[in-house]
Amino acid sequence: MASTASIHKNKKSTLARIKRFLAKDDHFSTSSNQILMKCHNSLHSKIYSATGSVHCSVLRNCSKDQVQAIIANRKSSSHASSFIPVGVNEEFGPTWSTHLFMIKIVIPSDWKEKEVHLRWNSSSEAMLINQDGNVLQGFIPKHRENFVISKCWEPQNNSEELVYYVEMACNGLFGALGEGFSIDPPNPHLNYKLKHVDVAVFEPLIFKLYTDLEVLLGIAEEMADDIRGYQALYTANEMINRITINNDTTGASDIASFFFSEKNGAKAHTLIAMGHCHIDTAWLWTYNETKRKCARSWSSQIRLMEKYPDIVFTCSQIQQFAWMKKDYPGLFQQIKYYVQKGRFIPVGGTWVEMDGLIPDGESFIRQFFYGQKFLEKEFGMKAKEFWLPDTFGYSGQIPQIMKHMGIQRFLTQKISWNRVNKFPHHSFLWEGIDGSTVIAHFPPGDSYEMNGLVKEVLKSVNNSEDKGRTNVGAYLYGLGDGGGGPTAPIIERLQRLQDVDGLPKIIFNGPDYFFNRLESDSHKLCKWVGELYLEMHNGTYTSQARLKWYNRKLEMLLKVVELRTTLDKIDTLLLNESGTTPESTDTQWIEDCWKGLLLNQFHDVIPGSCIEQVVHDALEIYHKAFSQIEEFIFKDSRRRGLRKIDIRDFFKPDSNLVVFNPLPWSRKAVLCIPVTEKPFNIEADSRFQFVQLNDFPSLSSHVSTNFPMWEFGNPSQYLACLSEIQPSGYSRLNPIATANNPVTFSKSNDDLTGSLSNGILRLEMTLKGSPQQKLFLKTSQQDEEWEVFKDFKGTNTEAGHFYIYDDSPACWDAWDCDDYHLETRQDIISYNGSNSGSIEVIAEGPLVGVVKWTTVSNTSDNSGNRLNITNYIVMKAESALLEYITVVDWEHQCHKFLKVEFPVNVHAREATYEVQYGHVKRSTHSNTSWDMAQFEVSGHKWVDISQPDRGVSIINDSKYGFQIKENVIKLSLLRSPKAPDENCDMHQHVIRYGLLPHIGSFQSASTIRNAYEFNSNFDIYSYEMANVSGDIKRHLPCNVIATSHEAVIPEVVKLANDAPDNTVCIRLYESFGSSPSNVVIKLRFPARKVVECDGMENLLAGNSALIPISEQELIDEHGVATRYFSFQTDFSPFQIRSFLIFM
Ligand SMILES: [Zn+2]
Repeated sequence: MASTASIHKNKKSTLARIKRFLAKDDHFSTSSNQILMKCHNSLHSKIYSATGSVHCSVLRNCSKDQVQAIIANRKSSSHASSFIPVGVNEEFGPTWSTHLFMIKIVIPSDWKEKEVHLRWNSSSEAMLINQDGNVLQGFIPKHRENFVISKCWEPQNNSEELVYYVEMACNGLFGALGEGFSIDPPNPHLNYKLKHVDVAVFEPLIFKLYTDLEVLLGIAEEMADDIRGYQALYTANEMINRITINNDTTGASDIASFFFSEKNGAKAHTLIAMGHCHIDTAWLWTYNETKRKCARSWSSQIRLMEKYPDIVFTCSQIQQFAWMKKDYPGLFQQIKYYVQKGRFIPVGGTWVEMDGLIPDGESFIRQFFYGQKFLEKEFGMKAKEFWLPDTFGYSGQIPQIMKHMGIQRFLTQKISWNRVNKFPHHSFLWEGIDGSTVIAHFPPGDSYEMNGLVKEVLKSVNNSEDKGRTNVGAYLYGLGDGGGGPTAPIIERLQRLQDVDGLPKIIFNGPDYFFNRLESDSHKLCKWVGELYLEMHNGTYTSQARLKWYNRKLEMLLKVVELRTTLDKIDTLLLNESGTTPESTDTQWIEDCWKGLLLNQFHDVIPGSCIEQVVHDALEIYHKAFSQIEEFIFKDSRRRGLRKIDIRDFFKPDSNLVVFNPLPWSRKAVLCIPVTEKPFNIEADSRFQFVQLNDFPSLSSHVSTNFPMWEFGNPSQYLACLSEIQPSGYSRLNPIATANNPVTFSKSNDDLTGSLSNGILRLEMTLKGSPQQKLFLKTSQQDEEWEVFKDFKGTNTEAGHFYIYDDSPACWDAWDCDDYHLETRQDIISYNGSNSGSIEVIAEGPLVGVVKWTTVSNTSDNSGNRLNITNYIVMKAESALLEYITVVDWEHQCHKFLKVEFPVNVHAREATYEVQYGHVKRSTHSNTSWDMAQFEVSGHKWVDISQPDRGVSIINDSKYGFQIKENVIKLSLLRSPKAPDENCDMHQHVIRYGLLPHIGSFQSASTIRNAYEFNSNFDIYSYEMANVSGDIKRHLPCNVIATSHEAVIPEVVKLANDAPDNTVCIRLYESFGSSPSNVVIKLRFPARKVVECDGMENLLAGNSALIPISEQELIDEHGVATRYFSFQTDFSPFQIRSFLIFM
């Protein structure tokens, strides 16, 4: 059946006619003429032909936790009377409150065999629940306002009453923004109006015509110069003629069907359409609201699957499945049913869609580990792809970690947000820093929230950088970020477009089908090597400093807990004595702590781009984990006969002190042990030095718990001593009488400069006026020195000074620091006024020397805000690390960015940054647009700039933002964005970092070990011999694991997950970027069998070979014999390897 062209060859008026015919809400405007006018009897208004009223009542302000209980109690006499009748136009609030509605419906008898819908619009998100308390569907204003009560109504009797409940949540898809979209903090005082509730008869044919015309209009507009565009235009025009002249809806429908039946050629580009609903696990709303968003969104998807048998729905973030299982078990069963059908498809395999830069390597592994374990247990399947549409950067270690977790396919989208350089591929091979390669795809429509529009499917072809190399692309459709997912109109539009001449083909299918097709073209794809740097959102390395502090600490601590738990297991094997068995072997709490840490690594939480309430929720999760760990360590040490250190024990002749070192190498170091008072007669004992950090702040506002007390992290008084400490485990703490290289302090004759020296470093400082630091590293036995700080490139940087920048990003406040902020740099001294502060020497050695520089603002800025900084510079005996502790009063800053900067005497074109289980190099210049865009980059515990013979590393505690350009290292300390959390970082901060100048490479200078040591903590105990029976050495095991090569770091020692009870999993990685061979991995626990496994702790496919084990018995100075087991293996650069040890 052919359509007839319009009589007048006026394309503009024909397009306007179609638009007017399709106008919603009876209002219409053309794009060329913005005047709104009412158009009566639009087609849209006829989709529903008859309406009926409902009886609606409400229980205001009920807590969301009560909803299920109230519905369960529906048969009680008080139930109905607690609901008050309510009508449309009533308002409900405030923001975040919950109101439960009861809706009673009697459907008119003359609606027999009609499709009957319930319609609802409360200007907010809402959830429809049946009388059994089961979730039926979500409601979203404008997007999902109807629920299908029946496709074909068959009344049981005339007065049959249907009862539903609606849980109204006083927030929108994007939290509490009021009208429109903004990232401002939520408005706590919003009200939401009940705009509409009724029942109505749905007319399927009118809806079909409406959708047909919508799609034809899209083709006519988007393919305006193409023959198919004209054909679509005239088809739509003819349809309107038929409907207008004699209401020939059937004839109009046939014309449309004919157009859509004209098929594509065999070579048409194909889009694999996957339903998707990217629900941010928290962002402009809390974790608790996300649970409801999942229930609303996913129940709606199940209703759509019932209606449309072809569609599939992809769903990431396993935490959200776990929430459904707990909070909505009925819905979870329905999800399970469709998972088994292969239509509700869990994707990604990670616990949440985490930030791609800040979590450490082991966190990445656990994201997959706990996610995939859940999928295996609940659904008997595992995700085959890593699914991370939305994240703020992509570590170069992701390919190897994916492969270690058994995944070879990667899908993301965010890199399309790049501000400077368009990423050159959509389908490509991604090679990580170790050489591992995975196949990667960025949906070329540049969105994970497609709406079934013609312009989107055309963009998905035209924008693809790899068309021709591959004929396939992914198309992710459905409302996202705030939830929602696909809607019926989106699916209807896509159905029209499945195979239409002139447009790409669309196939409804899942990621497995898509990647299978893409993989068949993999030999034609290009390769990208190294990290995928996102040229946006680089302020997220710094925003919400407190979350980042807790994240780093918990990452370190959970590994300590796992090591200790493993030691307990080894004890029970080695010792059969009573009283040594651990009190409980329950490790579920450790898994729960991991899951809390992983949850907070969600890509709007750990980056610091969430609202204040989410920050509070995240802190609560951290606090709970910290207190559980504290309790565990307390009990664990008690069981071993250890007690909290009493400082007097140091001075008893037969003092017995032990120290627990979680790191797998021995150290000789100055320990600074927090004490509450100055020990009596301390001066007489040359083994110790008492250190008091004057005016050190109380950090109760920063850390809610006293545990763990990181060195120089909380109290202001310390007892310093030098000691040698054994690796991974306990060793006796024997303070050494004198240091080989004690710290000394001297002043110039005129008192203007002072010098701290430890025989390795010499720090010269001005003692009056503007503080200037000069640092020298001893380079030879002949006392030759290298001057470390030098502004030899004229950058106008004073070493160790603080610089403040104006930080007003163009659009994404907590996310972005734009390049122009670099033009607003001010030394803190000029920013604070003329007062450069005071300098005071507060410790002169021999173990610790401390210089304190205080800069107090004597003027305020235009807003009346002052900024005070106290900086403690710490030099320790026998150490090449110069430590800094910076206390910043940051309560009043607004759109400012604080950095500390060091011009170093190193000429290098590249700098090195630690990332997950490895490091990357980035340029120190801005030659190309790609170099230029990297003006603020992320790193982990250390960064380094080196020339072949020497260099400088900076290590840090819980900082992630850096810039190393020219020869200046800038460490980003604090930001002060105002949206979406107006109180972001508005408190006092204590920041630790250290400077490690070195001769030779950073590898030979042990930068990596120094960074671990700076971020880990000792636990020191006293013990009484009387309390410790038997073999003290075995009760307090040390040397549990060690390697023969410094490059290979054993990061994890844990009990294996699903293996026999006495199996230990260890994970090691090569940290230098080198290829050490015959590395001996030495274990101090019985190893019957060693096999290599993947990160899921499954034997490596095709490699079940047993690794030969050597056994050796060593007798220590106490005459105690210990058996050591070892095996040898090789490592390639940055290789991550896991082994199962069967004891
Ligand atoms: Zn997101």
